[in-house]
Amino acid sequence: MLRWISRISWQRAIVSPINAAIISHACRLSQQALNGSMDKDPKTIRLDTPVQFLKGVGPARARAFEEFGVRVVRDLLEYYPRDWVFMPEPVKISQAYANQTVSILGTIEQTDWQPYRKIPIFDVTLADDTGSIRAVWFHGGYLVKQLEPGMRLLLHGKITVYRYQLQINNPKFMILQPDEDKADTFNGPVYPAGAKLSSRQIKAILSSRIDELTALIAELFEPAFLKKNELMGRAEAFRQIHVPEDEQKLQQAKRRLKFDELFLMQTGLALKRFHLKNSNFAMPLRCDEQIDHRIRRRFPFLLTADQEQVIGEIKTDMEKVVPMNRLLQGDVGSGKTVVALYAALIAVANKMQAAIMAPTEILASQHYQSMERFLHGSRVRRQLLTGGLVGSKRQRLLEAIKGGQTDIVVGTVALLQQDVEFANLGLVVIDEQHKFGVHQRALLRKGQSPHCLVMTATPIPRTLAMTAFGDLDVSVIRNSPPGRGEVVTRWVQSPNRKDAMEFIRQRLKAKKQAYFVYPRIDSDADTDNSNGEVKAATDEYRLLKDTVFPEFKIGLLHGQMTAAEKERVMNEFRAGRLDVLVSTVVIEVGVDVPNATIMVIENANRFGLAQLHQLRGRIGRGQSKSYCLLFAETEDETALSRLQMMTRSHDGFEIAEHDLRLRGPGELFSARQHGLPDLKIANIIDDFDLLNLARREAFAVIEADPNLATPSNAALRRELIERFGARLGLVDIA
Ligand code: ADP
Ligand code: MG
Repeated sequence: MLRWISRISWQRAIVSPINAAIISHACRLSQQALNGSMDKDPKTIRLDTPVQFLKGVGPARARAFEEFGVRVVRDLLEYYPRDWVFMPEPVKISQAYANQTVSILGTIEQTDWQPYRKIPIFDVTLADDTGSIRAVWFHGGYLVKQLEPGMRLLLHGKITVYRYQLQINNPKFMILQPDEDKADTFNGPVYPAGAKLSSRQIKAILSSRIDELTALIAELFEPAFLKKNELMGRAEAFRQIHVPEDEQKLQQAKRRLKFDELFLMQTGLALKRFHLKNSNFAMPLRCDEQIDHRIRRRFPFLLTADQEQVIGEIKTDMEKVVPMNRLLQGDVGSGKTVVALYAALIAVANKMQAAIMAPTEILASQHYQSMERFLHGSRVRRQLLTGGLVGSKRQRLLEAIKGGQTDIVVGTVALLQQDVEFANLGLVVIDEQHKFGVHQRALLRKGQSPHCLVMTATPIPRTLAMTAFGDLDVSVIRNSPPGRGEVVTRWVQSPNRKDAMEFIRQRLKAKKQAYFVYPRIDSDADTDNSNGEVKAATDEYRLLKDTVFPEFKIGLLHGQMTAAEKERVMNEFRAGRLDVLVSTVVIEVGVDVPNATIMVIENANRFGLAQLHQLRGRIGRGQSKSYCLLFAETEDETALSRLQMMTRSHDGFEIAEHDLRLRGPGELFSARQHGLPDLKIANIIDDFDLLNLARREAFAVIEADPNLATPSNAALRRELIERFGARLGLVDIA
């Protein structure tokens, strides 16, 4: 028998299911320790039997497996090959002809690395007793240390003709030991391996017991479901992935196992969302016409169509008795803050409090000030709470919040402190989500169940929105408010620097303001000069002030200044008393000065794409045309690709997709913090279509059977419990 855990314990378990997977892994281990004595009987192998008890493994190999994260039989089955080889018997070189796909066995006569070519190549001449052939690897620099003359090599690939010579491009290859001769020794899976455990040993362990091991695998789905989605059986998929019959079967096996991995992840998210929606009661916050009218009156402009749309979605959410759990994505300057204020005012109109949390003091106080602009003269009681506030002032503020004498509190992480208690918290807004962790989202709920709006200015590619944030409803603001000037982006190299500076001088004379951003604070803070000269904000500040722009007022802002100093400089710049603001990336998010129309980013090649895009978002906020000048000297391909992307596109989503491809999901968001899935076989970028399918199916399954109580879902339920443990809200009370 199974049932859902109570709502209280669910509320505490606001860990993403993917993180939960990590935790549950730990649980599984302890469970395994408990089961240890049972597992000592080597005859009954189960999925949670330690691999040590498999024939041919033993303690030493078990330790080697442990280093690969393989502890029990289930882990071993999920220790997927990194590649598969299907090589025919080698042919003699004299028998190879163009367009044939062949294996060739020979000895390396010579190697040649040619990095100076347009596409650098690594070039090998391979000979057997009938002739020689050229093998070429494009961008093959990584092979320089691997392949040497005299080595015996098995190649597999397609023969082409180049300058009347037979050649084989980018072949798969294998280095042979002197005693190794036959190609079929190598056919089959290639496992990620190490010194203590070779791919071939792993292959032998798995293939010799594959019948017994796959017999442990239960099918998760009904035959009709498999048929509809063209999925191979699960046990069969495990067999084919480790002991493939042919390439076609292997492809089917990969598809099935990827599907399962993505499906289980999405089921976890679907369950989490279902529970968040159904196990917490939120105060329904209504917004009738009168309230709507009163709120709108506060804004000196018409809301954009996108803002209207999003506010509509938020209103619908907040009227419900289940808490809103919504992610609002919108590029910098798209008008999210206004939306947040609208939502906060709905809460206030319903006699509830709202808390708005920003990642930095600058942003919190900027939110506060822009709120002041809109709320001037209203009776809404609002306060700013940051880490800088101490002593009796802080005490009085906390009392007002606790006593319900404050309606809206804007703040930093200082809001998360335990002694900050709310009388009746109706809405929580978290700005710039990616700076905070999932955990903080939970903390800010303050043990109550307010509606929750998470805002991010980092456009999140769809793949990530479906995984890392997959438990949230998503709203998007795509178009910024009208009347924004165009932003022109240029990559400036040293010959054009002087012209660029002159151009900036003209703009400054015309009373426009400029940001100059540098990768670091001090010149001695970082000794890594491998990428050429890296400029530092403090040095360049002096240079700009004394030499380059002596006629203008220059300010300096960086992360080592106190909050009060930063605040003062920002205010000076905002008020137009500074012409140029020299800074590090501390101005990255949210800072809003419409008269600043120039953004210079020095050593732009040192910044990530998301960061460059964020920085550029500081300009183009007013009506005049803005200029983003990327100063960079680089030949690094990735850096070049980033610079090109920046000059070509202003679409945050397009840039984010590109960034995801360049860097992989792990770096775009800190994986652990965001509960990014730890996937073993699927890849959320390459397998996007499968991810879509898995998500649709998973959400449909949970919709139809949220407790997974029907017999047809029994195997799925068992699999989820084993994978995610009690964290998913499923417990086994049998
Ligand atoms: P974000 O939080 O998404 O970066 P903001 O809400 O701070 O964007 O809005 C950026 C600027 O645009 C602010 O100065 C804001 O007052 C202004 N703004 C917001 N919505 C509108 C609108 N509908 N029409 C005109 N200006 C707007
Ligand atoms: Mg903002």
